[in-house]
Amino acid sequence: MKLSIESLDKDVEIIKATYYGLNLTLLLIDHDTLLDASTQPIAKEIYEQGVCPGKVIISHCHHDHSGGGEYFEKRGSVVYGSKITAGTVTFTTKSYISNFFPTRHQIWFSTNYIEGFIKGIENEFKPIGNITTNFNNLKNIQVIDAGGHTAGGLVVKHGNILFTNDAINGSGITNDNDINMIPQISNFEAYLSLIRKIEEIKPEMIIPSHNYKPFKNDRVLEGSKLTEFLSESKNVAAKLIMVGKQILESEDPLSLGLFTKLLLHNFGIEELYPQAFITRDAILRYIKGVNIIKEGEVEYFYIKK
Ligand SMILES: [Zn+2]
Repeated sequence: MKLSIESLDKDVEIIKATYYGLNLTLLLIDHDTLLDASTQPIAKEIYEQGVCPGKVIISHCHHDHSGGGEYFEKRGSVVYGSKITAGTVTFTTKSYISNFFPTRHQIWFSTNYIEGFIKGIENEFKPIGNITTNFNNLKNIQVIDAGGHTAGGLVVKHGNILFTNDAINGSGITNDNDINMIPQISNFEAYLSLIRKIEEIKPEMIIPSHNYKPFKNDRVLEGSKLTEFLSESKNVAAKLIMVGKQILESEDPLSLGLFTKLLLHNFGIEELYPQAFITRDAILRYIKGVNIIKEGEVEYFYIKK
């Protein structure tokens, strides 16, 4: 599908891109400020459709949001992001990969899988030269700290519209085909407190970046769908912690690979994938009383019975 750019509201355009069969949604405010940079190939598509933003705000460091920043920077855009995002995306592709897919996660995947995954990132992400971390001169745009999905994440508010990107995950992502994921959460306290913050902000519209369940086909969430999306996000985060704890309490010490497998199985997912390991790490940090046995580089986790 070709990328489309449509008017969403006064001075707001919605950019509807696709990424591995998933939606990838961006916003353009006042024909000048692009919310998220997408990937290198998508950034090129956006630019070739006539979008030449003065400013690009990167919501978080993941390559489908930050990867194209360098493309726009080269064409004169000023790129904005949090200090934590800057700390990853302005260095090397290698530093980016070790943040997202560290060696301790890679050991659970085949060499072929790892090579393919890393090749994909290298095609989509280029380090950005310079990131502006001061948002004071952004007119009509409020940048709100939104850790939880990833450290240093941001949500962006313009009028009554809140661009939540990946900061809130509903009950996970699906494309009804080969992609089925649990919510990707790196810090549960931050994730849950962000949902409360958004409930207080009471936006009229929420724009997530991908196909988050249960409203996986809507690029824009309003009214009861918006409310339900927030409460579903909260419920599933709580379920992840509960299921993680149950697994640890009922089993002998589990390796990270096996624990992740059992966790995913409880959510109807049978295949391991790298992003699941991030949520898994966050669950283990959140649960109290988890013990670790180390054998070489491999760790085994359990709760004392
Ligand atoms: Zn993300």
